[in-house]
Amino acid sequence: MPTEPDTHYDPSLGNKFIFVTGGVMSGLGKGITAASTGRLLKNAGFDVTAVKIDPYLNVDAGTMNPYQHGEVYVLKDGGEVDLDLGNYERFLDEDMTSDHNITTGKTYQHVIEKERAGDYLGKTVQIIPHVTDDIKRRVREAAAGTDVCIVEVGGTVGDIEGMPYLEALRQFAHEEPEENVLFVHVTLVPYSKNGEQKTKPTQHSVKEVRSIGLQPDVIVGRCDDPLERTTKEKIALFCDIPTEAVFSNPDVEDVYHVPLVVEDEGLDQYVLEHFGLDGEALPEGERANDWRRIVTTEKEGEVEVALVGKYDLEDAYMSIHESLKHAGFELGVDVNVHWVDADEMADYHAERLRGSDGVIVPGGFGMRGTEGKLEAVRYARENGIPFLGLCLGFQMAVVEYARNVLGLEGAHSAEMDPETPHPVIDILPEQYEVEDMGGTMRLGAHETEIEPDTLAHELYGDTSCTERHRHRYEVNPEYFDAFADEPLVFSGTAGNRMEVLELEGHPYFLGTQFHPEYKSRPGRPSPPFVGLLEAIIDRTDADAGDRAETEVTH
Ligand code: GLN
Repeated sequence: MPTEPDTHYDPSLGNKFIFVTGGVMSGLGKGITAASTGRLLKNAGFDVTAVKIDPYLNVDAGTMNPYQHGEVYVLKDGGEVDLDLGNYERFLDEDMTSDHNITTGKTYQHVIEKERAGDYLGKTVQIIPHVTDDIKRRVREAAAGTDVCIVEVGGTVGDIEGMPYLEALRQFAHEEPEENVLFVHVTLVPYSKNGEQKTKPTQHSVKEVRSIGLQPDVIVGRCDDPLERTTKEKIALFCDIPTEAVFSNPDVEDVYHVPLVVEDEGLDQYVLEHFGLDGEALPEGERANDWRRIVTTEKEGEVEVALVGKYDLEDAYMSIHESLKHAGFELGVDVNVHWVDADEMADYHAERLRGSDGVIVPGGFGMRGTEGKLEAVRYARENGIPFLGLCLGFQMAVVEYARNVLGLEGAHSAEMDPETPHPVIDILPEQYEVEDMGGTMRLGAHETEIEPDTLAHELYGDTSCTERHRHRYEVNPEYFDAFADEPLVFSGTAGNRMEVLELEGHPYFLGTQFHPEYKSRPGRPSPPFVGLLEAIIDRTDADAGDRAETEVTH
């Protein structure tokens, strides 16, 4: 990862807070704008963290449907959180904890539990001050020990759900010295039919922000192109901020270029000056600039990877897409990911996979699409196509091998087929009791021991690795003997849990019970993904070599 400069922050300056709200519509990428600003502050030598506020009533994202919210991101402490936290981890290269995702469910649950315990001493418990106090406490606690804390409020200003948060932030700003808090409002600047940048939506949304008692210090306009000078002047005039405080966030080809764009616009410098930190920041020439080098790496080729999943939505597999990009930065290739509908796979068999250089079967829950995933595994195994199976993908590789190599007819995961004659994937016996009580998911970072002289060993360069988990089922210990012979090798284990499998004699066939995609960062790509791309590149080079040879002999 980019070498982080030592932070030399004077604690008497207090924590600095950047509160980020969004206007006009959701999905503007305010999280990326915020994370990009954070990245630049880190480059300038500050210790930066982030908090994502999700104003929904779910306590966490664990039960949320990926179709609605994208993937559930898993933190090292096992927190199941909004995928925006993944962006913060990737941009800031900092590990977050569950405390960095504040939800209405979490806040209300806590306040209500306190009320039941009699902690409010008979007072009427109300949104203001009790819920708002709890929000402020959570923000302060998450920021403790860092220099700058970015707090992003999910949704759009004006949403009923967001009101308690905006009120809490208003109070927060009132309690803090003015130079410690900066309000950033991210809005949309659309084009009119005749090609003019329109500021009216921004004006309206800022009016809304101000009616709640907040005044943005900075406005960032999302637009296809950079904002024109006259657009910025208009926004400044009507929203009552200096023209220098209006920034553009134009479309870029890759989200990792956003820090470069906001740096060119001078957003980081403006923030530093607002906080009175320009003297504290590392001089321009000494700032870490590895990020720029990494994300602008020249690409020398393209590889095609099939992702055989259930959801036709990139966000549902965001961390996998990002991990492939990071591995691509490392190896200098562009990765084109083709989603292949696992539901269709069983019918179309390998048709859909031809033309792909590698196959990924991602994690997932439930029966739908499993036969298609099994077909994909089989195709990759039999044709020597580089393969990476993640969590459910690992389990499907075990099932496919049991059925088609070991001849265990009808083998399956007990999750998909409780009546299977060969439950090669099942709940571990010690989990049965806990299962009855609900909550059985194995979550968060756990260590895996790696067998020396295996592919896993070569990839990780170590005899252990610590990766994040989110699963309930495991390889059934009753079948360990059946799997004992080569070519299948369980090269990573944790006690009686099988964590990594590989196939000897195959160019690249790796399954992991864990999710390596949650720890991948630009500049610190995840070993299983780098291995996959390396195998693809080697194979394509060998093919090209073969072709060249044939041409010569003819
Ligand atoms: N459904 C499987 C299990 O619970 C795999 C989970 C996953 O892929 N995240 O074990």
